[in-house]
Amino acid sequence: MKSTIVLLGPPGSGKGTQGEKLSDEFGYVRLSTGDMLREAVRNGTELGKKAKSYMDAGGLVPNDIIIGLMKEKIAACNGKVLLDGFPRTVEQADALAEQLDVDLALNLDVADEELISRLTNRRSCPDCNAVYHLVTKKPKKDGVCDKCGAQLYQRDDDKEATVKNRLEVYRKNTMPLIDYYQKKGTLVTIMGVGSIDEIYEKVRKAVQRISMRGGPPPRPLPLCQTSRSIPSTRCWPYPNLYLSPLFRVIQ
Ligand code: AMP
Repeated sequence: MKSTIVLLGPPGSGKGTQGEKLSDEFGYVRLSTGDMLREAVRNGTELGKKAKSYMDAGGLVPNDIIIGLMKEKIAACNGKVLLDGFPRTVEQADALAEQLDVDLALNLDVADEELISRLTNRRSCPDCNAVYHLVTKKPKKDGVCDKCGAQLYQRDDDKEATVKNRLEVYRKNTMPLIDYYQKKGTLVTIMGVGSIDEIYEKVRKAVQRISMRGGPPPRPLPLCQTSRSIPSTRCWPYPNLYLSPLFRVIQ
């Protein structure tokens, strides 16, 4: 089944962390523009050379570069796609709309002070892109990635001065997308506070709702409640709902 999710939210709101969990559980291909650009910078490619100065300053890489890059990547995916960090401007969102329909725009909302603390304490893995936090998500061994053993580093754009600029850039260029997707009826805003798992529960529910939309229309079930204790007739199309022969209702 084809499905496209866009992850919106300021830098540090947890798009990468939640996106990884979603792609693991639901099988989405996660396309992160930030990860692609950092890899291009590390490898010294043409794209990396063009993008580096914008990234170092906490600004946005020009639309034509990003749109060209993403058009190709999206065209190569034919199924469930999760876009992390794209679109970041209305122009990018319009270009995306020409290529495919967005089923869900998930907006992670987090207060500025929390974002600054998360970003300045963030440490990243250059090889597998895993992220850690010096206080809330420490690696098992200081400075070493749990997943692949590489040396962790602080992204240049996670230093405090750049972080403030990134938040400004977000407010000016990317926040209008909240309204953009709201008007299209695909926006779900989630408060990105609490533990990673608590936030993920909310994210997951929003994604499950769009997965259900692709299935058969739900039948009205006025007397059904969930029950595992008195299994009898399965209550199609909900595998966890049962009809009790005794009460015709169930728990
Ligand atoms: P991220 O890892 O998503 O925070 O992205 C890191 C940096 O890459 C951003 O601060 C921008 O400089 C650049 N970048 C990532 N995605 C985009 C995009 N969609 N448009 C323009 N620049 C981007």
